[in-house]
Amino acid sequence: MQDAPSLWRAMAGPLEQRVSMGAPLDRDLVTEVAIVGAGYTGLAAAYALQKRGIGSIVLDAGEIGWGASGRNGGVVSSKFRLSFPLIARLHGLDTAKTMHRLAHDGVRAVEQLIDEFDIGRAQFEHTGSLRCAHTERALESIKSEADWVRTALGDRSMTVQSRAEVTRETGSNGFVGGVLSADAGTILPLEYVRGLAAGLVRRGAEIYESSPVLDMHRAPGHWGVMLRTSRGTVRANQVIVATNAYSNLTAATSPFTRELVPFRSAMIATERLPAELDAKLMVERRSYTETRRMMKWFRKVDGRMLFGGRDAFGKEGQTAGLDALRRAMVALFPELAGVRVEYGWSGYVGMTFNALPRVGRSDERTTFCLGYNGAGVAMASLLGQHAAALALGEKPELALLAQRGLKPVPFHSLRAPGVRVVAAWYKILDAMGA
Ligand SMILES: Cc1cc2nc3c(=O)[nH]c(=O)nc-3n(C[C@H](O)[C@H](O)[C@H](O)COP(=O)(O)OP(=O)(O)OC[C@H]3O[C@@H](n4cnc5c(N)ncnc54)[C@H](O)[C@@H]3O)c2cc1C
Repeated sequence: MQDAPSLWRAMAGPLEQRVSMGAPLDRDLVTEVAIVGAGYTGLAAAYALQKRGIGSIVLDAGEIGWGASGRNGGVVSSKFRLSFPLIARLHGLDTAKTMHRLAHDGVRAVEQLIDEFDIGRAQFEHTGSLRCAHTERALESIKSEADWVRTALGDRSMTVQSRAEVTRETGSNGFVGGVLSADAGTILPLEYVRGLAAGLVRRGAEIYESSPVLDMHRAPGHWGVMLRTSRGTVRANQVIVATNAYSNLTAATSPFTRELVPFRSAMIATERLPAELDAKLMVERRSYTETRRMMKWFRKVDGRMLFGGRDAFGKEGQTAGLDALRRAMVALFPELAGVRVEYGWSGYVGMTFNALPRVGRSDERTTFCLGYNGAGVAMASLLGQHAAALALGEKPELALLAQRGLKPVPFHSLRAPGVRVVAAWYKILDAMGA
């Protein structure tokens, strides 16, 4: 499988520094829980099982972190795409409180995993995340959300910043103010996922790379699921499907794509910034998002500007989306016009129609966990663990994230054109400042 030419790969240590877990599955094995997918979800699930003394085997079609976990922006956030006031309005205050706790539990899960597996190379920093408003109307909306979270949930971690503060901190004149969420941070995503895998392997976990699961079917007896790869099989009592937006890699996992609308999301990284720009842009080194519907985000890593967005259509490897990202970056940061873009890559984000992740069982042997809507670093680190609990028959508190069975996305076969129509409409609304 082809590697994405990302900054993360360039920054990661040489391959020989990784723990050796590279061999594809070439035998017939038996384990209590088989896990398909070695991203944050699958590895967090393996971690939760290991803590309970339950055996598991993780299989990935590519390398560890080949999916979104090795390609993302590394923004560690404590929120869902659905705001907490909206959750309260739709589902009641108690549900909003539980969802708020789950969101912050996600950040705690990252901290705990980094500590426990000593993943210093992932450079996790609890920097906070600044949401920058592109219009007065957008600013009012995020301010009222921060007020609501403070008064209704007692959470004082969100504070309002003025236009002058946001301009000073970002180095861009493109915003009218913002809201800082203190319980958030940044991480090197590929180092994090590799560090998780290395930690698990040190404690005896079995992870097989280059082992796409081609077929999953029922077998008689306690080891009631049979997973087949091209050169081996795994028989298990339970299976956890942790393939998210990459579920359609093989027919065995593609039914889980029905839960999702995969959206291509892209990132660019510039060359190292000249000293005067480095001293001016993003001086607090947080992660930054903006309020446009077709949201862009940015942060500084390794002295470079990293800029991402969710409107990169076309096939992976095509550069049209990356050129559009560069234009959007220069619109917000005109001083970057002469700075070279050195890396550009993309990956798939699993969006859902209710804008929330989903954890559930599709039958008595199969648990799935997916749909992070582009905010999965923290949430997958948490929900993978809850998926493991669910697979063992426990009842973790999942509030609105719990889902029974597989619910196909309506008009599934039309979803690619549908995504384009929605995205085009969002762009028009953004251009109108609506
Ligand atoms: C460009 C981009 C930027 C993002 N930025 C952020 C961000 O800044 N902050 C944030 O919180 N989130 C971000 N996200 C989202 C985040 O990366 C994901 O939500 C998260 O990584 C999902 O983890 P996962 O383990 O569920 O899935 P993945 O990491 O995608 O792992 C799924 C794995 O399943 C494997 N697989 C699929 N089918 C099979 C099969 N049949 N057999 C074997 N293996 C299979 C794949 O090879 C893959 O490795 C971003 C995503 C992208 C693409």
